[in-house]
Amino acid sequence: MTQTRGPRIVLLGKQGSGKGTQGERLASNFGMHHLSTGEMLRDSADAGIAAGLDAKAYMDRGELVPDDIVMDVVEERFANPREVEYGFVLDGFPRTRQQALDLDRILGNNALDLVIDLDVPTEVVVERMRARGRDDDTDDSIRRRLALYDSETKPLVDFYRDRSLLATIDGMGTEDEVFGAIVDAITARFAAS
Ligand code: AMP
Repeated sequence: MTQTRGPRIVLLGKQGSGKGTQGERLASNFGMHHLSTGEMLRDSADAGIAAGLDAKAYMDRGELVPDDIVMDVVEERFANPREVEYGFVLDGFPRTRQQALDLDRILGNNALDLVIDLDVPTEVVVERMRARGRDDDTDDSIRRRLALYDSETKPLVDFYRDRSLLATIDGMGTEDEVFGAIVDAITARFAAS
């Protein structure tokens, strides 16, 4: 594998599918950055920044944060060319078709290498979210987020499959097994290019 730059990866999957955990492991394994829009928005709310506090109201209800707020945090990160140079694993973004198109525009010639769909059944993610107990992990919010995943985010699976960027990974193994399968998919992608 000749790799002169970091991989550019998107992690798709329902909330509670393990994107955060796997994103962090991938970042340290490949020396790339883990960019979680949920985390960026939560940090911005904790810091008392107005846009972050606006975002928190949506997050606590289990709704999607409006695109202008999300795009501001994403564009700010990608304004630093190193983000693209080191490579990144995007976790929780894009979540809508519009965000996917915006991501293409931001990346320009530095197109994505691979989109990983972490596949975990709904009953399992519901139990995981309940156990996690974050501010936004109420039953109501969990239900709303899963419905939004189906209507807004799931169509991105086809969007990226059509572009031959999709790898579906069974997210039901142990953390190590899932991680191994993702690393294999990334390695295969670079070997093929
Ligand atoms: P996460 O940390 O990925 O579970 O995201 C937590 C919450 O942040 C979501 O339920 C949304 O309210 C918000 N959020 C994170 N990423 C996005 C995004 N790309 N678009 C809209 N809302 C987002």
